[in-house]
Amino acid sequence: MKYFGLVATLLAAGFAVISCAPKAENTVEAPPAPEPLRAVLTADSQQALTPEKVLEELKAGNRRFADGQLTRRDYLAQADATASGQYPKAVILGCVDSRVPPEIIFDQGIGDIFVGRVAGNVEDVNLVGSIEFATKVAGSKVIVILGHTSCGAIKGAADGVELGNLTELLNDFDEPIARADAATEGEANSANAAFLNLAIEENVRQTIADILDQSPVITEMVEDGELAIVGGVYDLASGRVAWLDS
Ligand SMILES: [Zn+2]
Repeated sequence: MKYFGLVATLLAAGFAVISCAPKAENTVEAPPAPEPLRAVLTADSQQALTPEKVLEELKAGNRRFADGQLTRRDYLAQADATASGQYPKAVILGCVDSRVPPEIIFDQGIGDIFVGRVAGNVEDVNLVGSIEFATKVAGSKVIVILGHTSCGAIKGAADGVELGNLTELLNDFDEPIARADAATEGEANSANAAFLNLAIEENVRQTIADILDQSPVITEMVEDGELAIVGGVYDLASGRVAWLDS
């Protein structure tokens, strides 16, 4: 009972303070918060998009994220609106790294983007098949291969880490690591920042080349201008994506 008595006293005191506070007069009221976004992509709005427009939207979304201007969304409304069908505009292949969540860093909502994630954002037959579905079947206009600074997969591969099934996965990075080693001074290990940063870029370029090599479906769509495939490296510290020249 003592506890409830104390709470009642504190509440009464708080109420007294609030009720005695001078009324604010002639103050400018803050503008009302914008309504959360409920709209989702539809067959028509997806159809109207071009690869160039989608890439601009992803770049703008990353700028909003890095500037602390994320869009407010009503996720439940978006879930309800997309339950009967999805028309995403892009597919992102990124790293499993917990610090690089594509929907957040590109400021996208439910139904906006497909996402595939694997350590070191490297392709395999399952991921290429998934990307073919996302583009040829489901209509996405852009493929983004997204690396990131300080990627543990590239670091581990450069440092010769061996562990269970990870050993085989890390072998996938041999070629980009060799190219980065040839193009930079010093040791080819994770302590060499210039080497590591170039290896991360080269790995993104390698994944793009391998996807095009393995998928006539995707290559034909790119050649026909229906689809763009681009690479970027996300900076863990700034939150910004540095887009690579194609
Ligand atoms: Zn990574």
